[in-house]
Amino acid sequence: KSQKYQLFSTILSWADSVRTMKVRANADVPDQAKIARGFGAEGIGLCRTEHMFFAEDRISIMQKMILARTKEDREKYLEQLLPLQKQDFIGLYREMEGFPVTIRLLDPPLHEFLPKREELMVEIAQLELTGKDGAKLEEQRRLLARVEELHEFNPMLGLRGCRLGITMPEITRMQARAIIEAACELAKEGKKIVPEIMIPLVGMVAEMKSQKDLIREVAQETMKRFNVKLSYLVGTMIELPRAAVTAERIAEEAEFFSFGTNDLTQTTFGFSRDDAAKFIDYYRTVKIMDADPFATLDREGVGSLMKTAISGGRKSRPGIKLGICGEHGGDPSSVEFCHQLGLDYVSCSPFRVAIARLAAAQAAIAEGDAKATVKKAIPARAKAVTVVKAARRTKS
Ligand code: PEP
Ligand code: MG
Repeated sequence: KSQKYQLFSTILSWADSVRTMKVRANADVPDQAKIARGFGAEGIGLCRTEHMFFAEDRISIMQKMILARTKEDREKYLEQLLPLQKQDFIGLYREMEGFPVTIRLLDPPLHEFLPKREELMVEIAQLELTGKDGAKLEEQRRLLARVEELHEFNPMLGLRGCRLGITMPEITRMQARAIIEAACELAKEGKKIVPEIMIPLVGMVAEMKSQKDLIREVAQETMKRFNVKLSYLVGTMIELPRAAVTAERIAEEAEFFSFGTNDLTQTTFGFSRDDAAKFIDYYRTVKIMDADPFATLDREGVGSLMKTAISGGRKSRPGIKLGICGEHGGDPSSVEFCHQLGLDYVSCSPFRVAIARLAAAQAAIAEGDAKATVKKAIPARAKAVTVVKAARRTKS
């Protein structure tokens, strides 16, 4: 290893010795997890399971599952996806060598899994023109009708996050089964895996409870089948203002909170995370904003909701595990803020892990310096008070 690398490792090891927050990575596949470990990630803070289904061999099964009209049909496709998901998780657990792995249940904007309406329309028009393949034309018309039924005007506010698992519980069942089966298999090899199952886009405690109950039921069945007793956690993302302000209730059901500050920024400002770049630069030029809130945590608004969520969460569950997995988890100034809030960990993209380790150490040092200054200031003040008092006495 090069001299530069050794120097870099030495600096990071110093950083590790002073930081109090853990640093995890957002990773969806074993290769990313491996890179994350290489940079020193101490676990996965977010595995976005929807990304696992974009691979060529899976997207078509996923599409058929979402397009299916009945639970039985959906289950047929989910049955095909189960072994693939299980292998995904086994791969992640192995790479993480016993470090925590937080797996988030499916959270797509639905349209990402649907065939494109416009493309279907063009195809239908072509089939109508040629008039050759009547059967195909009928099939594509039926498909378009189903796509129209599922079409959403505002997918980011639609059937996303836990809403999908609640309306189609068989999806949650399949994922919970894959997560627990994978951990049970490794437990049989003597490996200790503690999966952290994360429910996305929770806004109401009843959403959290219904998904958690379902997961617990599947986990019990699965552990019994494998004759393995596992520990696992079920928690939630805090990424909606309603979740932050009702955190006390939500923590009655959730064993951990992870701040999804991408969505929390979007929903707090009412800025589309996909479109805000178009006006944020202008806002900065005319001094309406100093920074891009999607890059650097907005402490006044989003940060204040985080504080509310933390104090609410701790009321009903003191010691609740707290993390962040939005983009801000790798931004040094946001990492400092997370340290001040008392989060247990930040989670960021694998390539930002080293920066986050340094930033977490700097935050701890800054806090230590601040405490030391206060400590120093106290005797100095006491001395000053004594001197002033003595001076008064001599005067009188
Ligand atoms: C978030 O919203 O901050 C988050 C981590 O989830 P995603 O980016 O996948 O919506
Ligand atoms: Mg989100």
